[in-house]
Amino acid sequence: MTFDIISWVNETNLAHQKQRHSCQQLSAHFTGFFSIELLKQASFVITNELPCPPATVVSQLGLSQLLSPTAVGITLNDIYYLKPQVAGQLRVHFHELIHVLQWQALGPEFFIKRYMSEVIKYSYRQAPLEVTAYNFEDKFIADPNSPFLIVAKDTI
Ligand SMILES: [Zn+2]
Repeated sequence: MTFDIISWVNETNLAHQKQRHSCQQLSAHFTGFFSIELLKQASFVITNELPCPPATVVSQLGLSQLLSPTAVGITLNDIYYLKPQVAGQLRVHFHELIHVLQWQALGPEFFIKRYMSEVIKYSYRQAPLEVTAYNFEDKFIADPNSPFLIVAKDTI
């Protein structure tokens, strides 16, 4: 079943190649927090409809839904998808870049397994991978002018 999800992730990202914006354009704000390599590698897509895996795959995972109706973003490996209303919010970009680092630290298969099991066990907001992303986001917002470099292993 993880294989199904990984296929869906890869297909979704391939289908959005042309709508991607490089995260390099955020470097004025994020240099020092994230490596230049990461900002070059990661990208984002602005879309009204966040990608959502097929219902059959989601129910196999034991979830009624993967995304809450109020979700404004989702990270699939090194591409994150944002709703237009948050596309201008640096804190949301920052949060999703932490998830990109988590995908890198764990690899797609383990990221997906761990993320799903955490959401089932703790609920979305208390899932440790989310808590870490929110904590980094809060730290950035509290002092956006004092960068501290975040690398993949710091995010899991
Ligand atoms: Zn998150």
